[in-house]
Amino acid sequence: MNSPPRIDTVQIDTRSMQPALVGADACLTGSRPAPRRLAYRLAQQLQTSLEAERILQLFFNTLRQALPLEGLNYLHAASDLQLCIGNPVADSTCYELSHKDEALGQLTLHHGRAADTRLLAELQHLVGCLLYPLRNALLYRMALQSSLRDPLTDTGNRVAMDQVLAREADDSLRYRQPLSLLMLDIDHFKRINDTHGHANGDLVLQSIAQTLKHQLRTVDRVFRYGGEEFVVILANTCQDAAALIGERLRQAIQELDFSALGNLRPSISLGCSTLLPGESTDSLLRRADIALYVAKREGRNRMMMAG
Ligand code: GH3
Ligand code: MG
Ligand code: MG
Repeated sequence: MNSPPRIDTVQIDTRSMQPALVGADACLTGSRPAPRRLAYRLAQQLQTSLEAERILQLFFNTLRQALPLEGLNYLHAASDLQLCIGNPVADSTCYELSHKDEALGQLTLHHGRAADTRLLAELQHLVGCLLYPLRNALLYRMALQSSLRDPLTDTGNRVAMDQVLAREADDSLRYRQPLSLLMLDIDHFKRINDTHGHANGDLVLQSIAQTLKHQLRTVDRVFRYGGEEFVVILANTCQDAAALIGERLRQAIQELDFSALGNLRPSISLGCSTLLPGESTDSLLRRADIALYVAKREGRNRMMMAG
């Protein structure tokens, strides 16, 4: 009968690194490359990047040259990072990484049945070397992520929109796929602020942003373009499909229930444009903006297609 897979869990915090180093050195002797030399090589490798994925790949590559390591999994929910390298095998050790009270993710090293006490001590020692480089990389990753998001509505900001739009326009050209864009603006939002207060106006903004993201399911494609204006980038979407999506969004906003705030029934107006051959992204945005302006002029709570 096969014995069940062994998965051990070890907590490793930066505060416990020093004793771990001492302990590892004391028990690590033998034919494998001297642990000090491996740790030194690892430390050198890990300082060559600030990118978390790259650091974990370097960690795996370096360890693999000297140790029987089959695979690596890593999960850090706060920065939306999940990584699988190599082959997951049944026996593994899971390391709960932390720096003081800050969680640095869950690292699983798959080492198969070959893991003896010495290998486990060696791995723990080397995982200790990963903590500070990984922490710096995670801080960098989260700073980058927040620099691309609008904090009030948790949608992408203008910088993110410019980046995504440029990339999607390139892809559209390269793969000959349609690209459409919706520009939308909340109707009479100033009146909502004036009647219900700025704080409730913020709630309405948040709720509308949430509904857009929920309806589209591709969270990263909604951007706050200005105060109460949003842009939705629809990759691989032709004009007819974009019109259907825009209409679905308009209806979803109209059906939002704000009865707790009195007779508040927000609506949105939309302009829709589809990239023309050879067209710039500025022109695509401009045409959606003009269509939005026409939707406002025609009475609001409607969508107009760009000419
Ligand atoms: P229209 O239907 O023509 O778009 O009318 P409107 O009132 O929505 O447009 P207008 O441009 O006159 O007013 C936009 C308002 O949005 C004014 C501004 O104070 C408000 N606004 C912009 N950003 C925020 C925000 O972050 N929170 C709140 N509560 N209000 C905001
Ligand atoms: Mg408005
Ligand atoms: Mg506006």
